[in-house]
Amino acid sequence: MSKTIRKTGFQLPLNSYQIGSWVINLFNLLMSSVIYMPTLPLGSQIAYGILYYITELAVVILAAVATAIDPSDIFLRSKSKDKDHIECEIGQSICTICNSTVGNLSKHCGVCNKCVDQFDHHCKWLNNCIGLPNYSIFISLLWCLEINTLLLIIFAIILFSEFNNHRSNYSDRVDNHEVYLAFTVLTFIVNILVLVGNTYLITFHSYIKCKGMSTFDFILMRREKKEKEEKKKKNEAKTPSENSLSNENENKKKKKVKDRENQEEIIMGYEDKSP
Ligand SMILES: [Zn+2]
Ligand SMILES: [Zn+2]
Repeated sequence: MSKTIRKTGFQLPLNSYQIGSWVINLFNLLMSSVIYMPTLPLGSQIAYGILYYITELAVVILAAVATAIDPSDIFLRSKSKDKDHIECEIGQSICTICNSTVGNLSKHCGVCNKCVDQFDHHCKWLNNCIGLPNYSIFISLLWCLEINTLLLIIFAIILFSEFNNHRSNYSDRVDNHEVYLAFTVLTFIVNILVLVGNTYLITFHSYIKCKGMSTFDFILMRREKKEKEEKKKKNEAKTPSENSLSNENENKKKKKVKDRENQEEIIMGYEDKSP
C-alpha cells in the first residue's frame, strides 16, 4: 500500500508535539486572562493587555498560516499546462519517489511523502514541512513567540515583586493569593523553558542564514564531518601494516574505477561514432 501524501499540517494524524504546543499556548492565554490581568496593578494591566494580546493574536495567526500552507514543490503544485513555463524559470531534477520532475532545490520529505520547494526541515511543532512558501512566516512566528514569551516572564516577575513588596495590596486585589502565586510560578517555569528553546531556534536560523545554508544543508554538513572524523579515528587506530594494506586496496579500487571509466569512454566513443 502506498504511503499517503500529507498536504498540510492540519491533515490527520496530528503530531503530539503539535498538540503540546497548542496546550501550552492555551495554558498561557488562560493564565494571562485569569491570573495576570486581575492581579497586576492598573498601569501594568493596560500595558500587559495591549502588548500580550497583540503578540498572542500574531502567534496564533502565523502558526495557523504556516501549518495550513502546502509547501510542495512548484511542479507538484502547478497544473500540467504551467509546467513548461516553470521548467524555463528554474533548474530541475527528477524525484523517483514522487515520480515527477521537481525543482533543483527541492528535497523529498519522508514524513510528508512529497518533495518540498526549497526544503528547510520538517517541523514537528507545526506538523508541516518548512520550505520556500512558509519559511518567512515560520521565522516571523519565532520572533512573535519570543516577544510573547518574554512578556509572560517579565510580568510574572512584576507579580512576584508585587507580592513581596506590597503583600497587603496584593491580597486586596485577589482572595486566594497563594493559589494565584503558585500558578504564576508555574507559568514562569513553563515560559522559561519555551524561551530557551525558542531563543536557540532564532539563533540557529540567524546563523545558517548568515552562512547561506538551510537546516537540511547544515545537518548534511554535520553528518559528513562526523563520518570523516570517525574514518580518521579508525585509520589512526590501525597498525602501520594494516594502513599500508588498506592504502594498497584503496589504490587498487581507484585503478579499477579508472579502468572502468576508460572503458566507458571507449564505449561512448563508439556510440558517438555509430550512425
Ligand atoms: Zn519527491
Ligand atoms: Zn514534511
